[in-house]
Amino acid sequence: MSRGDIVKGFDFHCHVDLHPNPPALIARYDEEQIVVLAVTTTPRAWPQNRLWTQGSHYVHAAVGLHPELVAERYAEIDLLETRIGESRLVGEVGLDGSPQYRSSYERQKEVFARALVTSQRHGGRIVSVHSRRAVPDTISLIRDHSSPDDVVCILHWFSGSAAEAKRAADIGCYFSINPAMLNADRSRALIQRLPRDRILAETDSPFTKPMDGCSVQAETASLVDELAVLLCEKSAFVWEVIRSNSLRVFEFAGISFRECA
Ligand code: MN
Repeated sequence: MSRGDIVKGFDFHCHVDLHPNPPALIARYDEEQIVVLAVTTTPRAWPQNRLWTQGSHYVHAAVGLHPELVAERYAEIDLLETRIGESRLVGEVGLDGSPQYRSSYERQKEVFARALVTSQRHGGRIVSVHSRRAVPDTISLIRDHSSPDDVVCILHWFSGSAAEAKRAADIGCYFSINPAMLNADRSRALIQRLPRDRILAETDSPFTKPMDGCSVQAETASLVDELAVLLCEKSAFVWEVIRSNSLRVFEFAGISFRECA
């Protein structure tokens, strides 16, 4: 069996390029056989991220323009569109309605809509979406500008209500869950109500916790264990759910793995 056949975990939202030594972290993910969607925050970062990850079976770079950066990087909207043409993985994109980013909110909506329209035009795109304090608008834009047959949206660190989660699931969205969400009562209650076939795992490292000083595999396994306790299921069952959901989503973008441990 060659490298890349065995998968021991998935991380659907990691900022590899915000760690001090990205090549070392990528080597670690390869070594530990964890599949990663490596989000980026500006389309200018994409070529370097692609270079770092092109030899990796496990780490896959996505092209993004983070909503928190739209105020200063709105001019990169055309570049984002061009690079979405080159990348089946897109993120981090989305909306942030927090007070400090309010002044760029209309431009954020324009950037996110353009990212969705471009992804829809090319098809077979996976999009990792930020929606802090902006869940209703995020869901409306996804509904208006994309179809789940062409674009799979993953709501990362989702903090909306159960009704909003249902609306998102009804239009085909997935949810990537990180360890910090399992420490908040409100998120815990929400996770229990998510459709099981839409649950994915993420670290959002380094924002939750930097991954360069610990075993990624251990972190992944402990997330599965904690989710299992929360959902009153066995860990093996939750891993099987995460595994099959993850393979389905990557398969959608043309990325497949032959066997999972
Ligand atoms: Mn993030």
